[in-house]
Amino acid sequence: MHAEIISVGTELTTGAKLDTNSQWLSLELAEIGIQVLAHLTISDDLDAMAEALRTAADRSEIVLITGGLGPTLDDLTREAMAKFGNVELVRHEPSLEHVKAMFAKRSRPMPERNVMQAMFPKGSEPLPNPRGTAPGIWMTHQRKDGSVSHVAAMPGVPSEMKQMFRQQVLPRLDGSGQVIRRARINLFGVGESQAEEILGDLTARGRDPDVGITVHEATITLRITAAAGSVDECQDKIEKTREAILNRMGTLVFGVEDEEIEHALVRLLRLRRASLSTAESGTGGLLAHRLTGVSGFESCYMGGVVVPTNSAKRELVSVDPMLIRQFGPISEEVALAIAKGCRQRFGTNFALAVSEWPEFDADDPLAPVPASFVALAGPKITKVEKVQHFGDPAIAKSRTAKVAMNLLRLHLIEG
Ligand code: ATP
Ligand code: MG
Repeated sequence: MHAEIISVGTELTTGAKLDTNSQWLSLELAEIGIQVLAHLTISDDLDAMAEALRTAADRSEIVLITGGLGPTLDDLTREAMAKFGNVELVRHEPSLEHVKAMFAKRSRPMPERNVMQAMFPKGSEPLPNPRGTAPGIWMTHQRKDGSVSHVAAMPGVPSEMKQMFRQQVLPRLDGSGQVIRRARINLFGVGESQAEEILGDLTARGRDPDVGITVHEATITLRITAAAGSVDECQDKIEKTREAILNRMGTLVFGVEDEEIEHALVRLLRLRRASLSTAESGTGGLLAHRLTGVSGFESCYMGGVVVPTNSAKRELVSVDPMLIRQFGPISEEVALAIAKGCRQRFGTNFALAVSEWPEFDADDPLAPVPASFVALAGPKITKVEKVQHFGDPAIAKSRTAKVAMNLLRLHLIEG
């Protein structure tokens, strides 16, 4: 069994609005094991809609339409369904009462045109819409070969569509009897292709459960998708795959689902009852921003400073200007001095620092790869890492902040 989704509206075909309904519906259908064969976006055109319905309903068992159920002249979904089904529109009294009641509730007179919203193709079934005026439509289509397909029309307004789908349409769909569950594992410190190489057969196409790789700002996410007869079976399959991934990726793995490195770092710091401060030049406070976004950060993150200039470095984290003159602002020595000065200033167990930011010269392919330095200072450790900025400059800062936090994360795991 498969489905097709038709989204209706000239605001969609002109590009004024993006069709997000189809994406949402496809994800919902996948959850119950129904594959989507096609998405079609179509303008407010009666003939084109009726024609699209014919094609879709002959090809797929389920057709979902969103939009065009409103009262205005350009809302043509109900007419298109009647035309497609070769039936007339008839009035449904309980729906008319509902439309009237919605207007009464808002203390507004009902325009004559809204009667349209109580008209349904003969033989179809209205789908209640508690959130809005327009009910949806459920229609069964007899194909020439004797088999049937179902068409469900829902409002275009995403919140109304979602509620109607979950409450009215979903219970009417059989699905494949399969349950689908997903899990995500996040890692940092290798590139996408390197991760794929280490994972080997785990990412092979057609593997069960399926493991996919995506990257967002240098964080790699492994997406496990399991299909089975029950939720327990799915969880069991996911657990085995998760173990296999952990075995191969080791400490590269830092978290699951929506967790980022800062969440893992705050968790470890709290576990070790250790404190942290930060001093940043090139990342301009990004470390502080990310760390303070984690709930419970107050018990381990004591504060941060931004030190873009020589005088800020001297005043706030006691870096000797001579050192900057000697080694340059983008150097191991200065990054380390910032980290040490920061640690003293805040009196924390650990401090993380980011050096100044390099110039990016995108027009010169022969220019050296720009780089910055991140540094860690702690009770029995000082560590510096050079961060080379190849790849997308737009993500260089967030990647640098992550490299810095990862430095301490690894130290806390190993120490
Ligand atoms: P209404 O009774 O509100 O008129 P309707 O079924 O006629 O409902 P539309 O007029 O087509 O719906 O759209 C209503 C709103 O929903 C508009 O703001 C439109 O941009 C938005 N919308 C419609 N279709 C989609 C879609 N596929 N994805 C995202 N938004 C959509
Ligand atoms: Mg409308």
